[in-house]
Amino acid sequence: MDTIKTTCPYCGVGCGISAQADAATRQVKISGDMSHPANFGRLCAKGLALGETLELQGRLLSPLCHGQQSTWEAALNLVADTFNQTIAEYGADSVAIYGSGQLLTEDYYVANKLMKGFIGSGNMDTNSRLCMSSSVAGHKRAFGSDTVPGCYEDFELAGLVILIGSNAAWCHPVIFQRLRAAKLANSDLKIVVIDPRRTASCDIADLHLAIASSSDALLFNGLLQYLHDHDAVNSRYIQDHTEGYTQALPDIGHDYLSQAAQLCGLPPQQLETFYQWFAETDNTMSLYSQGINQSTSGTDKVNAIINCHLATGRIGRPGMGPFSLTGQPNAMGGREVGGLSHQLAAHMDFSNPEDVGRVARFWQTENIAQKQGYPAVELFDAMAEGKIKAVWIMGTNPVVSLPNADKVKQALQNCPFVVVSDCIAETDTTALAHVLLPAQGWSEKDGTVTNSERRISRQRPLLPPSGEAKPDWWIICQVARRMGFAQAFAYENPGQIFQEHAALSGFENDGQRDFDISGLAGLSPDGYAQLTPTQWPVNARHPQGTARLFANGQFFTASAKAQFVPVTPQTPANLPDGAFPLVLNTGRTRDQWHTMTRTAIAPVLNRHKPEPYVEIHPDDAARHHLQANGLATLTSHWGRMVARVRIDAGQKPGNIFVPMHWSGQYASQGRMGALVNPCVDPVSKQPESKHTPADICPYQPAWQGFVLTRQPLAKIPADYWVKIKHQDYFQYELAGNNLAETWQTLARSDFSGASGSVQWLHYEDAAAGHFRAAAIVCGQLRYVVSLAPDQGLPPRHWLGHVFAQTKITAAERKALLSGIAPPDTDDAGEVVCVCFNVGANTIKAAIRGQGLKTPQEVGRCLQAGTGCGSCLPEIRAMLPLSS
Ligand code: SF4
Repeated sequence: MDTIKTTCPYCGVGCGISAQADAATRQVKISGDMSHPANFGRLCAKGLALGETLELQGRLLSPLCHGQQSTWEAALNLVADTFNQTIAEYGADSVAIYGSGQLLTEDYYVANKLMKGFIGSGNMDTNSRLCMSSSVAGHKRAFGSDTVPGCYEDFELAGLVILIGSNAAWCHPVIFQRLRAAKLANSDLKIVVIDPRRTASCDIADLHLAIASSSDALLFNGLLQYLHDHDAVNSRYIQDHTEGYTQALPDIGHDYLSQAAQLCGLPPQQLETFYQWFAETDNTMSLYSQGINQSTSGTDKVNAIINCHLATGRIGRPGMGPFSLTGQPNAMGGREVGGLSHQLAAHMDFSNPEDVGRVARFWQTENIAQKQGYPAVELFDAMAEGKIKAVWIMGTNPVVSLPNADKVKQALQNCPFVVVSDCIAETDTTALAHVLLPAQGWSEKDGTVTNSERRISRQRPLLPPSGEAKPDWWIICQVARRMGFAQAFAYENPGQIFQEHAALSGFENDGQRDFDISGLAGLSPDGYAQLTPTQWPVNARHPQGTARLFANGQFFTASAKAQFVPVTPQTPANLPDGAFPLVLNTGRTRDQWHTMTRTAIAPVLNRHKPEPYVEIHPDDAARHHLQANGLATLTSHWGRMVARVRIDAGQKPGNIFVPMHWSGQYASQGRMGALVNPCVDPVSKQPESKHTPADICPYQPAWQGFVLTRQPLAKIPADYWVKIKHQDYFQYELAGNNLAETWQTLARSDFSGASGSVQWLHYEDAAAGHFRAAAIVCGQLRYVVSLAPDQGLPPRHWLGHVFAQTKITAAERKALLSGIAPPDTDDAGEVVCVCFNVGANTIKAAIRGQGLKTPQEVGRCLQAGTGCGSCLPEIRAMLPLSS
């Protein structure tokens, strides 16, 4: 098998992958690409498990129109005709495209060209709006361009790295591994984590500032004043290369340090230590992510950080600068082609009339949109109001991921025409589509993506397309041709689209725009096929790409000087009150991606955090009468969800955290989007996903239990359920109020057509509310259900082992009926190290029994932590404090 170099499709780190694929079996062997500058061979658990996500089951394999299988011809005609009719009747602004940072740049380019250039509406936005639009807006205000100035290598050259609102250990694991390695190599490197939560990223922190939720701008305004007062600014740089410094100095009086500490909820000494470190360390990197961006004042927070770098002249040189860590694999590529509704293409946007004319000239269109369209939240609001009559959603799941998600669902239900192109058949959003178009998946796609450090990498096909799946760019171009724009969408391959995209970036540019890859416009088909990872700009001046921008102090503003932005710290749009006394924060877990449409297919990734959960401080748990590992109902003004309780002293009192991943496909009541408030930043229009007033109380069902089964359940008669895929079986965690007999009836009906004799084991204590049953077919365990009034249930881990066997033993039959695992059975506990399948209980027992003191000793003993390394923070947290 040949080795093919491609790129991971998950986070914005953009790791290079070396893959060996067997098309006949769809088996793909994954390893890190040692030569890729983003990761140098490292991968996290998600990247390593990509080979487990390529099965055909669950894929959307052919077009569907109104639920019926269709030909491509009929489906494409239906989409094109309906869009044309809708535009004819209601105008161009009655249609919309909602895209995704999962699209490749070539897909994105033609989608944007179709909507803004030829349909003539600005209504193309993307889920990247939820992720980093505040960074885009902050960059534009400060630099005149959406530029990430530095590169990953800078992390290793820094003397101080600040992680602000970023749990990189879980969200950008390979960046975190690079930071850990840099710290090991350089004991002088200091790392500061600024986050209300004590996250896994604190594992390598010299200082954790557990600031009050949303107080970041206060903290950085205080830093700017501190730098000014302590003569730590670079006056020469300020004078030569910036404007607005004096106006940006916050008017906060002499007692600002203690004031800032009080308002940020920090001990003044801690804050002063951080300010001192920043003041005295020239090579300082400020890495920030969704904790900054997802706020009603996210743009201001970005500028408060950038202000401090401009004041010290720490930008554009090795080892220093502000650095936005992008969430999605191609959020950056989406920005390049104009995926956000206020953008046009090639870093041009509607705010500049010359840009509109320039793009129209290049595309040779007379119908280019003249104004920006709806950003994501407003787009679905407009749909709810009946203004959007036809929408095309590409590779994203807004019914789960958008704030106020129940309203989004309703808006789609009421929308007259919904098209969804996706590689997965059943998502919460595909369920609402009138037309479903099968898109190729990661292993089949061909194009480019751009990572957080502006590095363009190729994604290359490993396997032939599944079923009738087509590339997104092809689907879009086919619809565009049928809408009457054949000449402008006559591409035959993604390389041609990339060439045009590159040419547009250089069109009438003359150094006026940062995004310029005109040096790649003449790529031959072979050159495109062989393209190696390259950082833009790539042009005549920088034919090999550019690692850093702004080293010369020249920016893309009218004066060529960077702009300080005065920032007045704002309180969030909605504050806790008597009804909703807690602040709900949301984010990612270590091993899942977005709405789990792909990662939940990989059994190995379901072992770490198998159920939706809420993390809460012990004091708040006691106040709200919550038990560890019990269930809780969370409510906000916008919706509700149910989650498993995790009591965690690392949570700030008054704050709770829920993961963003669970959809209606994997949990009955686990969609956090239903709770999240839909308020947005007035500049960037990014929603405030980190700060929703919420309440929490125990969820008290009559019974709890689980089912393990080799086949997915057709019906689940439980109020609360979570579906977890394992290697040999599916696990359903359950809770409800209905009668247990329903389960027995259902279980038996599931086996009514089973070949071979079905032997049922059955135990019931109606008075105590216990019910257990198991089905054995040809000596093999096929199905187990266990229900009880509380959580006194048999360990699932043990039963999982029984499922892996071809024959069940007599002792195991007895144990199944008694509900008690055989005495010599270990309960490994929740899996911490997925690479070597090592559970928390196993690790704790080894630490206790063998006196292990370091993660390295745990690794030598159990292998845990010696694979991708993502679990090292959790292992260290189990060790005695002295380690
Ligand atoms: S760090 Fe991000 S890009 Fe790299 S392997 Fe993990 S998920 Fe993929």
